[in-house]
Amino acid sequence: MDEGCLLCSAERMTEWHLEDEDCWVADCIVCMTPMIVWRTHGLPDQRMEQALLTRLKTVATERYGDGGFWVDPERRRIPDHWHAHARPAGAFFDPRSTLFEGRKGGEG
Ligand SMILES: [Zn+2]
Ligand SMILES: [Zn+2]
Repeated sequence: MDEGCLLCSAERMTEWHLEDEDCWVADCIVCMTPMIVWRTHGLPDQRMEQALLTRLKTVATERYGDGGFWVDPERRRIPDHWHAHARPAGAFFDPRSTLFEGRKGGEG
């Protein structure tokens, strides 16, 4: 637990899709795409990371369909607390996000 870390505080500001003892998956408040967050502040080993990504893909498949998304592992805003986004194919933000620019071709 890192004080002031947005992911540690895990505030339920958007819809939550899944949670278990290792992680939770909720819509990212910025992107509005499903985002998985490890419950531990830090970075998991590769085996744990793969297990977590499997859970993210389950949620993403429900939302965007088989092959309708891509996994973005880059941690831009909070690099030291593991999380990953599933984004719609060919786009960066979910169409529900105010930042969605799919209609302009998306340069994100
Ligand atoms: Zn944290
Ligand atoms: Zn996001």
